[in-house]
Parts: sequence; structure tokens; C-alpha cells
Amino acid sequence: SIATTEERLHLGRLIVLTGPSGVGKGTLMRSLLKRHPELYYSVSVTTRSPRPGEIDGKDYYFISRSKFEQLLAEGEFLEWAEFAGNYYGTPREAVLNQIHFGKLVVLEIELKGARQIRASFPSAFSIFILPPSFDELEKRIRDRAQDSEEAIARRLVRAQEEIQAADEFDIQIINDDFETALNDIETVLFQ
Ligand code: 5GP
Repeated sequence: SIATTEERLHLGRLIVLTGPSGVGKGTLMRSLLKRHPELYYSVSVTTRSPRPGEIDGKDYYFISRSKFEQLLAEGEFLEWAEFAGNYYGTPREAVLNQIHFGKLVVLEIELKGARQIRASFPSAFSIFILPPSFDELEKRIRDRAQDSEEAIARRLVRAQEEIQAADEFDIQIINDDFETALNDIETVLFQ
């Protein structure tokens, strides 16, 4: 018989890594996955264009807006959000299947999606990554430099809103020194 979503969730565990754009959660996530290959990273679907070096199916599944809207209507997303003019979503079946197999599944998503996960799956464990300061975050967003001035401005406004929501989540980790932040994440997850 097919287990319900709730039943499947009790067999495994869902971890949410959230925090403002540019805070370094993607880099933290990649290092975490290297050190813990047993984790399953959920590759998101997006309508954003690939940045140089990004690989379809590895960094994201890059799809059109109309395809995204079709998948959304079909209920294919566990959560989704519009962020800085693009859609982002977590594929439902892939994640629930991994949890069913007892895997620890990690989502790296923005605030609205993280809130949806917390509401639907109260047993999920959520980590909010904070920058050492807003000035430092602005610098990191600008240094990434692949985004237009308009996209940067939208990300900065959004980042300010997101930071204010940090204490809604189970734990907050400041990404000042990268190694320290990574060790802090490992400690809360594995000890
Ligand atoms: P970026 O365009 O910089 O790759 O991602 C922008 C923001 O969208 C980041 O905060 C990232 O964590 C978030 N994001 C990536 N995938 C998803 C997703 O599947 N769902 C949601 N809600 N946010 C996502």
C-alpha cells in the first residue's frame, strides 16, 4: 500500500537550510554534502536562467515558466515560491521517496518555501543561516556579480525581510567564518 505523506515522513527526516540570498548557504550545503554523502540533496526546479558553470539537473532543473506552472497545477511541488522574479520549487515525489527509504533529505530554500515546509511538516528540522552583518551580505551579493543591478536590488530588499524571520526557525547559525559555520551545522545535525 502507498504510505501517506505523514507516514513517509516518520521514516526519514527533512532538513531545511534557509536564510537570505548571498549568505553562503549554497556553499555550506555543497561542503556538507561532500562530508556526508549519505545525505540526499533535493535539486530544485527553477525558471531562472543558468549562471555560468551551473549544470542542469545538478544545480537546478532549469525549465520555462509555462512548464513550471503546469507542474504546479499538477501538484508536483512540495513547496514553491517566487523569488526576485523567478519561480523555484521542490519536486514532491523525489523527496518523499527518499524519506520513505529512510534518507536524511536536505532542502536549501528561501523563506516563503521554508515556512511552507514548517507548516506542512512540523517534524522537519530547520536551520537559518545569518550573515555577520547586513553590510557584509550586501558585499557578498554584489561580489557574485553575475546578477543585474535590478536583480541585486531586489535580492537586497528581500534579504532584509528574510533576516527578520530568523527566529521562526529551530536554530540560527552565523556564517562569518565558513569552517565554523559548517562545523556548527554538523554539530546540530549529527550530535
Ligand atoms: P538563486 O537564484 O540565488 O540560486 O536562489 C535564490 C533563492 O531561492 C535562494 O535563497 C535559494 O535558496 C532559493 N531556492 C532555491 N531553490 C528553491 C526551491 O526549490 N524553493 C524555494 N522556496 N526556494 C528555493
